[in-house]
Amino acid sequence: MKTTILGYPRIGSQRELKKANEAFWSGRIDKDELLKTGSELKKQNWIQQQKLGIDLIPSNDFSFYDQILDACLTFGCIPKRYKNFDKNNFLELYFAMARGYQKDHLDVTAMEMTKWFDTNYHYIVPEFEKDQNFEFFSKKIIDEYKEALALGIKTKPVLIGPVTFLLLGKEKADGFDRIDLLDKLLPVYFEIIGELTNLDVEYIQFDEPCLALNLSEKEREAITTTYETIHAKFPKLRIYLANYFDCYGENLDTALQLPVDTLHLDLVRCPSQLDDILESKNYNPKTKLALGLVDGRNIWKNDFEASLKIIEKATSSILPENIWISASCSLLHTPYDLDLETNLQSEIKQWLAFSKQKLEEITTLKELSTPNNEAYLSLFEENKLANLTRQSSKLIHNQNVKDRISNLKEADSHRENNFSIRQAKQKEALKLPLYPTTTIGSFPQTKEVRNWRLKYKKGLLSQNDYDSLIAKEIENSIRFQEEIGLDVLVHGEFERNDMVEYFGEKLNGFAFSDYGWVQSYGSRCVKPPILFGDVSREKPMTIKWSTYAQSLTDIPVKGMLTGPVTILQWSFVRNDQPRATTCNQIALAIRDEVVDLEKNGLKIIQIDEPAIREGLPLRKEDWQHYLNWAVKAFRISASGVNDETQIHTHMCYSEFNDIISNIADMDADVITIETSRSEMELLNAFVNFKYPNEIGPGVYDIHSPRVPSLEEIETLLMKAKNVLPTQHIWVNPDCGLKTRDWPETKEALKNLVKAAKNMRKRELKLI
Ligand code: GLN
Ligand code: ZN
Repeated sequence: MKTTILGYPRIGSQRELKKANEAFWSGRIDKDELLKTGSELKKQNWIQQQKLGIDLIPSNDFSFYDQILDACLTFGCIPKRYKNFDKNNFLELYFAMARGYQKDHLDVTAMEMTKWFDTNYHYIVPEFEKDQNFEFFSKKIIDEYKEALALGIKTKPVLIGPVTFLLLGKEKADGFDRIDLLDKLLPVYFEIIGELTNLDVEYIQFDEPCLALNLSEKEREAITTTYETIHAKFPKLRIYLANYFDCYGENLDTALQLPVDTLHLDLVRCPSQLDDILESKNYNPKTKLALGLVDGRNIWKNDFEASLKIIEKATSSILPENIWISASCSLLHTPYDLDLETNLQSEIKQWLAFSKQKLEEITTLKELSTPNNEAYLSLFEENKLANLTRQSSKLIHNQNVKDRISNLKEADSHRENNFSIRQAKQKEALKLPLYPTTTIGSFPQTKEVRNWRLKYKKGLLSQNDYDSLIAKEIENSIRFQEEIGLDVLVHGEFERNDMVEYFGEKLNGFAFSDYGWVQSYGSRCVKPPILFGDVSREKPMTIKWSTYAQSLTDIPVKGMLTGPVTILQWSFVRNDQPRATTCNQIALAIRDEVVDLEKNGLKIIQIDEPAIREGLPLRKEDWQHYLNWAVKAFRISASGVNDETQIHTHMCYSEFNDIISNIADMDADVITIETSRSEMELLNAFVNFKYPNEIGPGVYDIHSPRVPSLEEIETLLMKAKNVLPTQHIWVNPDCGLKTRDWPETKEALKNLVKAAKNMRKRELKLI
């Protein structure tokens, strides 16, 4: 039995890569210094893995920005708009593709970015032309192999598989299917593999996580062709084929028949997979199995007892030398090192394992599976005890919460009356004009505002002083909104750091790490809250500032909350109960807040759910189950109020067309959505599907400092009017304004209000 992993985090335990990248971009350090930081990080990772007993260590899992961007450059898949860049100035080209470039005579947009499967990591989307050619351009994979070799470590280079690479990308023109580019792409793989095998590389890891998706027959055939050809050309090469994030599912038979040395299994996401394989007539017991037992997506300690049972099952059918012990997927998605956390409660800390601890777990599992394992038995006992205390811990288990969950009734997820009755009552109560105007919640988080929060957190600003600064900022924002004539106001969210962290910090059941950073994209890292226990709300979380804002004005102010699905989705969540149960617990806590806001005079309450779409499972057949519980959790959070109280929700990242009926099932009175970047493409969904409730399709893109013109906004509103009933249309930007500055925000919102006024005039035939 041997140990291996698929990849390791690369940002550095102190986010060294982020800091070096940002310093390089702003010209504070030069290329050599950036490269040096990269080499240091790679070296640390390799040495760490070696020290902790990983037998086969990956290379080329490092990246300065993103591994798929690296792959684009490896395969010479460089969009034409970068043709004026000097290919010898590699980093300039690389970061131009990642981030766009605006200097001198060059003005080139960045490549698109999107979520990596169902993670919160974003990759650069490869772009393909009909006449696409490939060449072995960047030699990074070779260089990294040599770099590790110089340290005495013979690694397993990691390469994205050609089928997944093609599927992750996009055709930039009509008239071809990117999978047909395989014939042109494979020769580059042969060249790469040839160079690697000349260097005596024994193993190459091909990542083909597309095997966790619904593939067409043609795509499955592409997989077969790829690995049969590679094997035929390089019979001595050991192919380590990695699928992760879900089962092989209907692709299993294809995978089992491939001439590969090793098949990697994500046994965390798909525990039943091992049985399926061992029972399959297509399984050749000489094919090694990599048992992905240690969770690469979450921060919980492994359950050694359960893992050892699985290993035992495997060894009853196949030889120990044909088994790898591994993590479910790359450790990229978990933070570096739990040892750095000195402020976590020790009871909670003992339940956790970050990347470094996961390496130790992998090695320990291997040792515990060997005959002379006495030296490791104490670790087994320690692990068992930690997991036992978790099962019964008072920190986790709260009987009141569990009772509330089991007493949930169907009626708890329904408003008193249906939308048309509510709409009439709300019209009466709110007296809003046609095309009501509003914003999504946050206003610019200026340097000063962020500074106040930081100082307050560090104890350098007293509660009173901090409160009066926030109060003043809220007052200014209310006055500004009144002045320009918005119809529904917001307080501005100045007191909030992050829309999930803010609520996590106030709810029971969440813990926060100091260094638990995970790469989100490029130099951007997130520190997800650790949702470890039953969730409950001790006291109101947002009432103070919402009621304060409402007290300043007669115009309705929206209460502003983050929804249960988004809080769940953007946290490390417990693995000892179904996600749906955890989500319902959060939903009940948010529901209490919604009811309290209503009691305190807020007539409109927004429950943000930007993450609802990204929670979708990878396989379509699993979608409906998720959507059912996710939509229900939202409804539980929203249904405790009277008909007169108007519930809004907000979502970003468009692409709702395929789940629009489920979005309608959420039954929010008003939904505001991101649409403007796609020129209201989203509205096409409404041509076929009659969305029943009110809707605010975002009329300008807040991700850019550009001020939209009055005409632009009116044009978009006219488009909306063509597919939606006039009485249902709201006018708003497409997301929160916290990343913007005040000057452009003011100009943009003035135009937005004017556009709405013009639309009203048009309705009255005044223009
Ligand atoms: N209310 C939040 C804000 O305006 C919504 C953020 C989001 O959609 N991601 O900042
Ligand atoms: Zn948004």
